[in-house]
Amino acid sequence: MHRSHRAAGALVGSAVGDALGAPFEFGPPGRFSARFPTPARGAHTEMCGGGALDREPGEFTDDTQMALLVATSLVERGGLDEADLFARFLRWADADPPDIGSQTRAVLRSGLPWDTAAAEHFRRTGRAAGNGSLMRTTPAAVRFAREGREVTTDAARRISALTHGDPAAGEGCAVLHELVRVALDGGDPLAAVPSALEAVAGEHRERYAAVLAPDWAPEPGTPDGAVWPTLGKAVWALRHGTSFAEVLRLVIDLGGDTDTVAAVAGGLAGAVYGMGGIPMRWASVVHGRVPGHGERVWRLADLQQLAAALDGGAQQSYDPGVIPRIGPQEVLPGIWAGNLDGARYSEQDFAVISLCRLGEPFSHALHRMAYIADSDHNADLDVMLADVLDDMAALRAEGHRLLVHCHGGASRTGLVLRAWLVREEGMSPQAATAYVAERWPHLGLWNDSFTAALSRLATRSRSSG
Ligand SMILES: [Mg+2]
Repeated sequence: MHRSHRAAGALVGSAVGDALGAPFEFGPPGRFSARFPTPARGAHTEMCGGGALDREPGEFTDDTQMALLVATSLVERGGLDEADLFARFLRWADADPPDIGSQTRAVLRSGLPWDTAAAEHFRRTGRAAGNGSLMRTTPAAVRFAREGREVTTDAARRISALTHGDPAAGEGCAVLHELVRVALDGGDPLAAVPSALEAVAGEHRERYAAVLAPDWAPEPGTPDGAVWPTLGKAVWALRHGTSFAEVLRLVIDLGGDTDTVAAVAGGLAGAVYGMGGIPMRWASVVHGRVPGHGERVWRLADLQQLAAALDGGAQQSYDPGVIPRIGPQEVLPGIWAGNLDGARYSEQDFAVISLCRLGEPFSHALHRMAYIADSDHNADLDVMLADVLDDMAALRAEGHRLLVHCHGGASRTGLVLRAWLVREEGMSPQAATAYVAERWPHLGLWNDSFTAALSRLATRSRSSG
């Protein structure tokens, strides 16, 4: 898998976890699975909003707000500038964000400068090992990963210390940075736990070793505002889940501080499973503002762009330009096809499935985005394709008109239309291709990796009856 998929997966995964867990914050164990016993792929998904602060579906909370402050400071300052980052935190706290951790609030409202505020708070209270610095550190873990273990764990401690004077909090951030670093390199973060523990300062090592041990299991319903159980739960969920979605389900079902624990688990799982492993119904709706920092609404595309900048890539904006509209045209019963602008200017009641980058977001209420590249670099093509087809089936079952599109409406759109016929109608790839070609003259067949994916899908569909 390309590193950029993992970097985007980490950043988007953390925001997705935050938004997904938020409505269940401080609830009892098992509430998520009780409400969603099976994947909710129709118009109403597990991104249900609500909760104590009555959030919109997909809206992230203070965890991601602060993470975005970390991310933008690192990108705009070209590295770690603690005074700048602290100033951004202050502006945010002064704007009265709907939620803010008690310890973070106490430090940011103390009026003390960046290099003494947190230490002074810790000296006075002796209590400063909350999970409020761990929840926001994924962007920094992406930013410093390429510079190696020393540098990334050092940055973790310094950023944590801006609000959390207890070094124990910084050690937890250091462990997370190291696990994310290993995952971005394509390694197994679970196998790296022992070596990550070696980097933990001696007096804190034992407590982290306990919650990161393979046989440790969280007790549902126990308080988890502290840094140790938060990290422990995230790693436990990664150990016991076999997909991004399952990791998040496990961790949110623990109840308690669900947005924060899921933000940490989501960052880690996103680095492991990559962008393509995050269900599109979740990634497509994640959004939010950062109080004190303008009216900008951050969305999926912004997070992906930020991840590329943190990972060292170019932070290019995407302007698809003006292209002649193609479609929408009904190609299969209830399923329409188009190109980018054909879809952008289509009727608002379409449930739109986008398979390419968009530039400006669409205004359709029901809009899912799967970023399938028209190349052979899709590490998770089978997983992404199944995710798209499952959502399409659920939306069709609810009676929605579907509009599938990509930039040109040719290759990716053609893949999904043909895959639908293979899976839902039991057609052979050849028959499906002929069927679509007859009804959609824009079909493009140049991508051999798509052809291979279709035949794998046909094999699986046949063997599952
Ligand atoms: Mg929160």
